[in-house]
Amino acid sequence: MEIQWFGTASIKISSGNTSVHFDPFISMNKSLQYASVYDYTDATDIFITHGHFDHIYNIPEIWNMTKCTIYCSVQVASVLIKQGVLPDYIRIIDHGQVISIPPFVIKIYKSQHIRFDIPLIFKTLINKRMFEYYGEFIKIMTLNKAMPAGTIFAYEIVCCDKSILHFGSLNFSPAIDYPYKPTMLTLPFQGRLDIDHYALRFIKKFIPQSIFLHHFDDTFPPISSQVDTTQFVEAVTKAFPHITVVIPEYGIPYTL
Ligand SMILES: [Zn+2]
Repeated sequence: MEIQWFGTASIKISSGNTSVHFDPFISMNKSLQYASVYDYTDATDIFITHGHFDHIYNIPEIWNMTKCTIYCSVQVASVLIKQGVLPDYIRIIDHGQVISIPPFVIKIYKSQHIRFDIPLIFKTLINKRMFEYYGEFIKIMTLNKAMPAGTIFAYEIVCCDKSILHFGSLNFSPAIDYPYKPTMLTLPFQGRLDIDHYALRFIKKFIPQSIFLHHFDDTFPPISSQVDTTQFVEAVTKAFPHITVVIPEYGIPYTL
């Protein structure tokens, strides 16, 4: 099983000739244009973690090109249908469902969205980047209104005795029994100023064999930022020396 990152929370998981995509998104940052719609020409099955624009904005364009199947919440389905995606290509999913796309088995879990902390909100809003990217800020505010989060999902992708527990936003539901000790845990590393400390509780809860960070890049300024992962990696390596931490590069396949 291989995992690739295409920026933001866009993940592709492959085995042999089969692949599944999660939250495909093309950077809005002109100085970070590493992925394009052509990275998704092979998409047959796309899973959505939640409906925010940085997880679904490019779906209609990708669907027009590939006529892929999209697995998402009822709220995301209604947004996509308004944008021209045909209902026949959408599978509405919910917590507890299991989808088989051989050789993958994909289990769906309800999750929660990260709560942005107050220091990060101040740091983002009171920042000279607001002036630099004012046009983008207005566009993002409009997209936020049109694209609500809806139900938040996490996914367990199982293949060949290995498993990836994948989150699109860094939070979980306390009442849900998630898989324990996955081969790999993916962590979207953006959304709080205390994220180094905050993300450690995910490691303590899930005890993964390895961690794959994503969403730490600056793909929709001025709201996003390039998050420094150094201190988190140092803290994990110190407290959990047996856990491998992957800070992926764009498009490079990592084998589990
Ligand atoms: Zn979100």
